[in-house]
Amino acid sequence: MKPSSFAYLKAKSVEHAIDLLGGADDEGRLLAGGQSLIATLNMRLAAPKLLIDLNGIGGLSGITVRSGTVEIGALTRHAEAERSAEIARFAPLIARAIPYIGHVAVRNRGTIGGSIALADPAAELPACLLALGGEVEIAGTGGKRIVAADDFFKGLYETALGPQEVLTAIRLPAATAAARVGFGEFARRRGDYALVGLAASARTSGGALADVRLAFFGVGATPVRARRAEAELAAGHLDGAVAALASDLDPADDVQASGATRKHLAGVLLRRVAAQLTQVSP
Ligand code: FAD
Repeated sequence: MKPSSFAYLKAKSVEHAIDLLGGADDEGRLLAGGQSLIATLNMRLAAPKLLIDLNGIGGLSGITVRSGTVEIGALTRHAEAERSAEIARFAPLIARAIPYIGHVAVRNRGTIGGSIALADPAAELPACLLALGGEVEIAGTGGKRIVAADDFFKGLYETALGPQEVLTAIRLPAATAAARVGFGEFARRRGDYALVGLAASARTSGGALADVRLAFFGVGATPVRARRAEAELAAGHLDGAVAALASDLDPADDVQASGATRKHLAGVLLRRVAAQLTQVSP
């Protein structure tokens, strides 16, 4: 199918994009990599009057490691992060997750900011952001604000982003020697969105795990922290952690899998990812 007709403007700066959004009366959409938005337009699931292209804005792309924080600009392509030595060293969870996003062509165009802003509940990066306890930097008419990952994902494709705001960067704690991460997912075919996935982070402390954060994806409207399982794992109870998923997660039945199947797969993933957490991060 072809999209409904729309106007197209290239934003010169973040402030310009915010102004254009304001002038579009809720009928404007930001265009980043277009890997989700263009398909949505072509299927006429959305029909905005104006596309505001972010791709010409300088300074929205790039990876910086400074003062214990990894900052990834919103327009950074998945492929750039996948190849980055800084990401491999200081954000190994992101490095592990990105190869699971679609295929090479998708990763060449798709952006980190687009993935977080879209907040697909079965996507890898929102769960990684949550597992790492990261932050989202947002620009709006009143300037910049920072939202913690725990407060960013509000509902199905719904985030803390307002109608006249641009996601400008994400920030993650840079991995230290004590940091441990784990990642896994089940998908019908390599490159598909996950049926169920798990992104996890922790810290080793005196031979045990501390600050365990387990973010499941594909099991609800948003990425979901499994808080009872986190506590069980930190106490060294793997079986207890798997059992705790029965109350932590409540996936619905859909055409791809029943909720019971997803819960079972979540338990299998937790055992695999827990084993990764006890290994030294690459
Ligand atoms: P766009 O498509 O340009 O935009 C997506 C949405 O985010 C739009 O609503 C847009 O307005 C908004 N947006 C974009 N940037 C910003 C910003 N800076 N501030 C505020 N709002 C913004 N993704 C996965 O996670 N896992 C997969 O397995 C996966 N498989 C895929 C397979 C295929 C065949 C395709 C085509 C895509 C797949 N994707 C997958 C999607 C891909 O990761 C996209 O790159 C991502 O979802 C959106 O990023 P984008 O830059 O393309 O955003």
